[in-house]
Amino acid sequence: MTFHCKNYDINADACKKLKGDCLPGRKGCVLEGRFALSEELEQKIHDLEEKMKRAKE
Ligand code: SF4
Repeated sequence: MTFHCKNYDINADACKKLKGDCLPGRKGCVLEGRFALSEELEQKIHDLEEKMKRAKE
């Protein structure tokens, strides 16, 4: 199965909605809570959220 998200900017390789990395299932993503995340994806989302927290500080 494939999925194409209307928010994905292929040229920038980024999410237009969240103005950052496309990590399906991350907070604010249209897929949030709609599927089970792999451990790898959960880790990437965690790392991104930590990075965003540090950037705000
Ligand atoms: S993060 Fe979610 S909403 Fe954004 S482009 Fe990726 S799949 Fe779409």
